[in-house]
Amino acid sequence: MADDRPAISDQSEQALLSWLEAHGEPAYRAKQIRRSLARGSASSWEELTNLPHALRGALATEFRWSTVDLVAEEASADGETRKALLRLRDGSQIETVLMPHHGDRNAICLSTQVGCAMACAFCATGEMGLLRNLSTAEIIDQVRHWQKDLVRRGDRVSHVVYMGMGEPLHNYAATLASVRMLIDHELFAISPRRLTISTSGLVPQIDRLAAEDLPVNLAVSLHAPDDATRSLVMPVNKRWGVEAVLAAAARYVARTRRRITFEYVLLRGVNDSATAATALAALIVAHGRPQDSHVNLIPVNAGPGGFTRPRIETTERFAQILRDAGIVATVRISKGQDIAAGCGQLKVVNERRSGAAARV
Ligand code: SF4
Repeated sequence: MADDRPAISDQSEQALLSWLEAHGEPAYRAKQIRRSLARGSASSWEELTNLPHALRGALATEFRWSTVDLVAEEASADGETRKALLRLRDGSQIETVLMPHHGDRNAICLSTQVGCAMACAFCATGEMGLLRNLSTAEIIDQVRHWQKDLVRRGDRVSHVVYMGMGEPLHNYAATLASVRMLIDHELFAISPRRLTISTSGLVPQIDRLAAEDLPVNLAVSLHAPDDATRSLVMPVNKRWGVEAVLAAAARYVARTRRRITFEYVLLRGVNDSATAATALAALIVAHGRPQDSHVNLIPVNAGPGGFTRPRIETTERFAQILRDAGIVATVRISKGQDIAAGCGQLKVVNERRSGAAARV
């Protein structure tokens, strides 16, 4: 029979208070329950032993504990980065990644959609098309998935990047609602400065986010310094071109005082020339103070489109041209590459293994 219980992660404090009152329970239980869900190590209602047995039973009857079930998990060769494939109630599957860093931070990467409408040429998720948006609970339950493991080890999620499957700003309401839960001191209590929302460059939504007055970090996927190349790699560029995206990024910096990260996937022979690097540097300088910008160069992972990564010397030359213009440029060798940690890749690998409809 279909499980129609609402998800507990979708319940506001007010909604929970009303439910508790109707069940003759004291109001303080609302905060206690919500905090336990955000910061506890329990993985089911039964394990929430700080609550009376009868209350746990009533909550379990009324609310789904989680909207996600683990299907598969892979760890990178060094055992550090872990990627989980999660099944949603309708059978859809999404990915989330835990990236610990030198024992001083635990960053996680969240998905916001099943598939993605942006169709970036190098991206396995983009190949799927957009199947649907995630609910706020489905985003938050990815965080809870990792949090309970970390809490058991005396640790916690410290940083969150919205860079998994989907375009976070294309699912604006659920993404923002999840951000507000993550920064809530009564819940996950993560500083907004430790949250990063990544976008392919949806200009109206970048402006809308700037107006929220939440000092979250913004990462804008640029991937090319000119409209012709960017439109080839990112079809969304036909709607909002390079100049419009850079101008929106500058407005975001002016409003939030946060530095901006430009993501730049390096594709051999497509966008990795010295000319492209010089043009990119000039663009960033023209649209603001270079010291407010950080370019993250990402040699492409094997995936759709048949793209290959540039030679190391080419990548280094590209980075140096940016640095010579006063721009911070780093090269990201994607963590957990051996576990298919590129966007949407674990799902594709798992489908191939299980014989389900593979998309590549
Ligand atoms: S790279 Fe990001 S925005 Fe582009 S298709 Fe993939 S998930 Fe969507």
